[in-house]
Amino acid sequence: MIVIMSPAAPQSSLDRVIATIEQNQLQPHVSRGTQRTIIGIMGDDRHIHTQTLECLPDVEAIVPVLTPFKLASREFRPEPTLIRVGNILIGGEQLTIMAGPCAVESHELLESTARAVHQAGAAVLRGGVFKPRTSPYSFKGLGEQALDWLHAVGKSHQMPIITEVMAPEQVNIVADKADILQIGARNMQNFNLLEAVGDTSRPILLKRGPAATLDEWLLAAEYILAQGNEQVILCERGLRSFDRKYTRNILDVSAVPVLKSLTHLPVIVDPSHAVGKWEWITAVSRAAIAAGADGLLVEVHPQPEIALSDGRQSLLPKRFKSLMTDVRHIAGVMGRSVGVVESQTISEFVPPEVLP
Ligand code: PEP
Ligand code: MN
Repeated sequence: MIVIMSPAAPQSSLDRVIATIEQNQLQPHVSRGTQRTIIGIMGDDRHIHTQTLECLPDVEAIVPVLTPFKLASREFRPEPTLIRVGNILIGGEQLTIMAGPCAVESHELLESTARAVHQAGAAVLRGGVFKPRTSPYSFKGLGEQALDWLHAVGKSHQMPIITEVMAPEQVNIVADKADILQIGARNMQNFNLLEAVGDTSRPILLKRGPAATLDEWLLAAEYILAQGNEQVILCERGLRSFDRKYTRNILDVSAVPVLKSLTHLPVIVDPSHAVGKWEWITAVSRAAIAAGADGLLVEVHPQPEIALSDGRQSLLPKRFKSLMTDVRHIAGVMGRSVGVVESQTISEFVPPEVLP
């Protein structure tokens, strides 16, 4: 349950609520919103005497949280969580487009991809350096060497970088250089890893497991939040289904509006791993933005035919540029814009009302 304090509650009133929660061997979690402060009660709160809390000064209401996740719930934080990465704000009016290769393969390929996606208006550079692969014989990434290239290339284009961290012992190495840490779909319920990234001060992009329910996914986010890291971005990347002949996975577009009602955390969509073929990425990206996603994570490669992983779903830079044009159109319809755009691309933007 959560304790909603009156807007003008002084610290002394908050302290009394906190002390009462602690006396019951439960943990208080304070969230200071723009309007009011909410105190979450963490732990098994079935036996706490709500009347004692209700009678404390400045307590406005005690609200049960009906969802299994608490810190991630809308009840706990009614306003959206905004995550600042450099000069980008994720989860606000502006959409955040993250793009780059599936894996960092060489400095040259990364540099040319970064230049292209930056020019097209991507805000964040992606690139895998530790790659989770279904087969142990597949390319597993170039590790720390690739992380250094990603760091340097991101800096030279003034783009924050995102990369996956696969194991707790990699967390410090990656958090030292990457602006956003990605937890891959296969690791969504790697609880030791979730706790380890929860101990960092970096934003975490948490992908949905290929067969995870929304509750399981939000409880995975809860692991990170419960460690004290409030900067979690949810990323829908498609679910395993019965028909894999034409698409790699099935994108759960409906997860976007449902999550928006359940949680205050930003939600972005990865169309690349959902669809698995470059031909359908643009259409699915339009759908994601129309459904209310806060951004996209897209794989781009200048020579997909030689890519060491996920070439089939990687967009050529020119196709990514055209995806960005479509995304701007749909963003306009949704009353949103695309974050960190070059002045050149702003002037190319055609507002929706003048479209035929
Ligand atoms: C990736 O982003 O390259 C990746 C491996 O994604 P996922 O965890 O969604 O499969
Ligand atoms: Mn990939």
